[in-house]
Amino acid sequence: MKALVTGGAGFIGSHLCAALLREGHSVVCVDNLITGNKGNVASLIDHPGFEFILHDVTQPLDVSADLIFHLASPASPPGYLLYPDKTALANSLGTYLLLDLAKRHGAKFLLASTSEAYGDPLEHPQREDYWGNVNPIGIRSCYDESKRFGEALTMVYVRQHDLDARIIRIFNTYGPHSDPDDGRLVPNFVTQALKGEPLTVYGSGQQTRSLCYVSDLVEGILRAMLFDGTKGDVFNLGMPDERTVLEFAQMIKSLAGSSSPIVFTPYLSEDDPNRRCPNIDKAKDKLRWTPNVKLEDGLTATIEWFRTKLSIS
Ligand code: NAD
Ligand code: UDP
Repeated sequence: MKALVTGGAGFIGSHLCAALLREGHSVVCVDNLITGNKGNVASLIDHPGFEFILHDVTQPLDVSADLIFHLASPASPPGYLLYPDKTALANSLGTYLLLDLAKRHGAKFLLASTSEAYGDPLEHPQREDYWGNVNPIGIRSCYDESKRFGEALTMVYVRQHDLDARIIRIFNTYGPHSDPDDGRLVPNFVTQALKGEPLTVYGSGQQTRSLCYVSDLVEGILRAMLFDGTKGDVFNLGMPDERTVLEFAQMIKSLAGSSSPIVFTPYLSEDDPNRRCPNIDKAKDKLRWTPNVKLEDGLTATIEWFRTKLSIS
């Protein structure tokens, strides 16, 4: 089949493009490179089934496809705080234009939403039927609320236009191709540990997250799109292994063999969720999906990738 991947030169999108090509699909990768990097798809450029189009998804696009994966959006808190307007529009106007493209071409559609749709959740772990606790005018709302609007619009297209669409809520994901400068937990801690700089834990470090390795996530994305009976579904995709941010800092420091100190600094932004962990029963049941890569193994592979990328021996 022919797949269109928006945000295909980003961290997750580049792994998704590679996986689709491996499975025999052809891929059109659309990206405006605002937070992505063409180097992430450098190994795919010469593949006969791969095409890169430099394009902003908030502008109309006419590319025929059987499968549309909409991932284009700044995704790290520093990224969307730097580009709040572009973030809000990629997830609202961009989602509208791509849903409409899917409708016109009879394509299947997948929206990459986020655990941020639950905001600072009051229920733990988060199930798909939890409505969330989001500050609609807070500093993170350019991201949270535009993803929530994208979800609502996707369901409008399912119900009103019978579009074969589904939504995934991605929880914190890490791995190779992650931008060392994008400010997220793993790239920050790994880069700091490898450079011998202090690991910057925000707040008390007692806030929690869970980390999913990118290859596991991509398998979940493919199943959500390709399995029968997923039209109109919402799936949490993430690793249900909740740890504190301080534990992640200690683990990364140890795995990197670093002598960097761990320091506590103020939060980067208000509304940083206090606890986050997915309930993935639905994906386990309907997609027969579970993340398999152990945290230590995934972090070790990621640290090695960063070591090469940053030319640190
Ligand atoms: P990323 O920044 O590496 O990738 C996003 C890509 O989208 C980049 O290549 C960027 O250049 C591109 N992009 C942004 N705005 C665009 C526009 N208007 N037109 C065309 N391209 C545009 O981030 P990522 O971590 O790979 O995230 C991919 C998707 O997954 C995002 O939608 C994000 O919200 C979602 N997500 C990611 C995580 C995570 O932990 N990585 C968690 C939850 C949700
Ligand atoms: N964090 C931190 N130090 C850093 C980067 C992140 O303590 O250098 C914390 C951040 O405050 C948050 C968690 O790690 O509580 C995850 O942050 P990230 O930016 O990766 O993504 P988020 O889950 O907030 O979208």
